[in-house]
Amino acid sequence: MTGSGAPCGACKFLRRKCVRGCVFAPYFCHEQGAAHFAAIHKVFGASNVSKLLAYIPVADRCEAALTISYEAQARLQDPVYGCVSHICSPTADCQSPGTACFA
Ligand SMILES: [Zn+2]
Repeated sequence: MTGSGAPCGACKFLRRKCVRGCVFAPYFCHEQGAAHFAAIHKVFGASNVSKLLAYIPVADRCEAALTISYEAQARLQDPVYGCVSHICSPTADCQSPGTACFA
C-alpha cells in the first residue's frame, strides 16, 4: 500500500486507493466509516453520493454526510418509508406524505 495511511471508510469499502483530497475521507473514518458507507452505497450508490457531496459547500458536507448516512440506514431498515417513518409520529396519518406528515 502506498500513501500516508489507511484508506478512509469509503475507499476501504470500495477497495480503492484513497487519494489526497478524497471527498469522503473527512467524513468516513477507517473503521466505522466503512460500515456506514456500505449502507450508503447500497441505497444511493457511491458515485451519486460523491457527486452530491461535491455540489455541497465544504462547510456543510459534514452535516450532509451524516444525514445521508442516517437516511441510508433508515432506508435499509424500512425499505418502504425509510427515514420518513422517523419523521412521522407513529400516530400520524401517513396516507398523504408531504402534507400532514411534515406539518
Ligand atoms: Zn477515501
